[in-house]
Amino acid sequence: MERLRAGGLHPRLGVVYAGSHEASEAYSRSKIRIAAELGVSMDLRSLPPGAPEGDIARETGDLSRDPSVHGVLVELPLPPQADLGRVLEALDPAKDVDGAHLLNRGRLLRGGAGALYPVTPLACLALLEDAGVSPEGRKVTVVGRGETVGLPLTVLLIKRHATVTVCHSRTADLAEAVAGADIVISAAGRPGLIAPAMLRGGQTVLDAGISVLPDGRIAGDVDPAAAGIVARLSPVPGGVGSLTAAMVFANLIRAIRRQGHPAGRGPSPPGTGGRGGPGYPD
Ligand code: NAP
Repeated sequence: MERLRAGGLHPRLGVVYAGSHEASEAYSRSKIRIAAELGVSMDLRSLPPGAPEGDIARETGDLSRDPSVHGVLVELPLPPQADLGRVLEALDPAKDVDGAHLLNRGRLLRGGAGALYPVTPLACLALLEDAGVSPEGRKVTVVGRGETVGLPLTVLLIKRHATVTVCHSRTADLAEAVAGADIVISAAGRPGLIAPAMLRGGQTVLDAGISVLPDGRIAGDVDPAAAGIVARLSPVPGGVGSLTAAMVFANLIRAIRRQGHPAGRGPSPPGTGGRGGPGYPD
């Protein structure tokens, strides 16, 4: 970000926030903290939980058209009266730092050139890379086929030559699928779903689940007692969630490049995974 500012560009992130959800509020707070640390300014558009879909789409469109805003994201979950697909039609795909727009999803399927990828799957890949665990040739079990995490993550893992098993609420034998994997990544939003008895030594386990327990604590999908069994387990809170917020800013840099700003040209800073940023092939 320093190099962008030195080039005369002041990175700015637009966020549309409608309604209230404890897990997404915690996620928003971590983005605000990282933005302050990086010197990225934020344009936060907060709407009440009852805001009609049209108002949410209008704020998204306004931010997309604002030339001083380089990345835009719509906080999830949206309130029930709003359809995400229709709201995202107002979003400029070149500013889609969450990788949620249909065009970016299509590009993800086609191999990634020019795409902005969804951030939680990127965070999972970055954590694996950091641990020195390559998905290539490994058996990976993804728990959850949600559009935000499980489904795009499955695509990214296949592109990285993993053999992927995807589990969901109708999977007949979750324990068998989890036990047979080298790498387990859970994104179901069901606290304690992955019990220690399902796991074995040597496995790498990433917990992308975030749930708020009745006593206010944040919990993942994996029973924390599993940490004593497997080779590595990402913690909740922390782990995938912390890195997910950081990936929004990695995508912001990529978005600035896609928008063709002269300050965004040149090689990536060290540690950002090459020209495209962490997790990208190009
Ligand atoms: P989602 O769309 O609701 O998907 C949840 C998935 O879990 C569904 O595919 C569902 O199966 C599956 N599932 C539910 N109960 C199950 C069970 N008992 N056994 C096996 N699978 C089960 O949710 P999402 O938006 O993908 O998010 C998933 C989790 O990730 C949530 O906890 C969310 O808070 C968290 N999240 C974390 C981050 C982060 O930064 N770490 C970011 C985004 C989301 P069906 O398809 O059959 O219903």
